[in-house]
Amino acid sequence: MANWQSQLDQLIRPAVRQSEATDELLIAPGATRQTGAVARRVTDKPRALIMADDAGFGAAGDAVVASLADAGFQTETLVLPSDPLPKAAVTTAEPFRARLAEDNELFPVSVGSGVINDLVKYAAFQTNQRYLTVATAASMDGYTSAGAPLAKEGFKVTIPTRAPIAMIADLDVLATAPAEMTGWGYADLSGKMPAGGDWIIADALNIEAIDDNAWPLVQNHLRGWLAGPAGILKGDIDAVARLFIGLTAVGFAMEFHGSSRPASGADHQIAHMWEMEDHSHNGRKVSHGAAVAVGCVAALSVYDWLIKQDLTQLDVDATLATAPDIDARLRTVRKDIPDPYVAAKSEQEVRAKHLGRVDHRARLELLVSVWPDIRSRLCSHLLRAEDMIGMLREANAPAFAHQIGVSPDHLLRTLRAAPHIRRRYTVFDLLHETGLTEQALKHVMPLLGPKRTEATE
Ligand SMILES: [Zn+2]
Repeated sequence: MANWQSQLDQLIRPAVRQSEATDELLIAPGATRQTGAVARRVTDKPRALIMADDAGFGAAGDAVVASLADAGFQTETLVLPSDPLPKAAVTTAEPFRARLAEDNELFPVSVGSGVINDLVKYAAFQTNQRYLTVATAASMDGYTSAGAPLAKEGFKVTIPTRAPIAMIADLDVLATAPAEMTGWGYADLSGKMPAGGDWIIADALNIEAIDDNAWPLVQNHLRGWLAGPAGILKGDIDAVARLFIGLTAVGFAMEFHGSSRPASGADHQIAHMWEMEDHSHNGRKVSHGAAVAVGCVAALSVYDWLIKQDLTQLDVDATLATAPDIDARLRTVRKDIPDPYVAAKSEQEVRAKHLGRVDHRARLELLVSVWPDIRSRLCSHLLRAEDMIGMLREANAPAFAHQIGVSPDHLLRTLRAAPHIRRRYTVFDLLHETGLTEQALKHVMPLLGPKRTEATE
């Protein structure tokens, strides 16, 4: 039995049983042909509305429609153009939402990958319906998660919604998805490595405890899922299955923990900055996975630097003496983030995590006392940036900012601004509170620039 099949039994099936949202999940070669049978088990509606974009519909649409018709559903399709790619924004979901709102007898079915699934998830939730998702690429971790990361008035937020009641992942379809998209999924999964580091820090500093249900579901298997990136690129079914199981487990971990903490840390904050800027490279919007890959390498590089520091020697009085107060910090937010709407939202996030003098002292004193423990946990958990760069390269995912058209100046701006956009505590908050941000950035920036890449190629 392939290793992924045993993970399906030991990891994913128990997660489906535990899930309050998802009742049916099928990951198998040829699974699309069972869409109708699965849908029949989860709904008694007479009609199905198949929502997709051209690319997703092309990958599996006909088989999904045929299977639903065989199971007795009347079918209707609503397909968005995929050139340009549909935007991950609340407004893009409007046609889906409007059609579902008109007809209460329609069972929503999503056929596609990241953005389409999020749009349908959002539209179904807005109209108080459960939906079925047919995954067409192992390109991200959000199929089974409860949140929909969509832009609302220009600010990217994870909108609380409901995970699908059923998911179909046809391994034959996933293995023939464009290699680039599978690389994005690999990259999205790579971000769980520094995200785990961020959670270790937040746990050790009594900010957000590690959840012993969600943590092992992702972190105990992560190195295995990330092993063998070359097979993913070749569309090897076993490698793609392993990757997809990893992405699916992450989705459940988010549901069980009740937030995206198990999946998203500093790496995702960096990626969200570029997503909110609608950053494009070579005339195309940069994908979530590609942005996360670059964020992941940046975050791991910061970690490589951090674990070499001896924070037991931190001068707490001197650090507090130069720490900015909230007004100074908010001025920095407005300087780092030119968009006034995003800056205003970020101010709320920064206010939520800013520590007054007394709490800041307590935080630093705790950090000094537990640093040897944090350091050793980080050392045993994290991959080094250098190793991750090699693995991302094998998966044909980017690792450096210039590969996605982000200049060194732009990268530096992003690294400074990224922690402002979320209250979630990450390695960047630790750097901020210890006054080490600029020192760390000065060290890592040359490692993340184009010169560095040429030297290693
Ligand atoms: Zn992600």
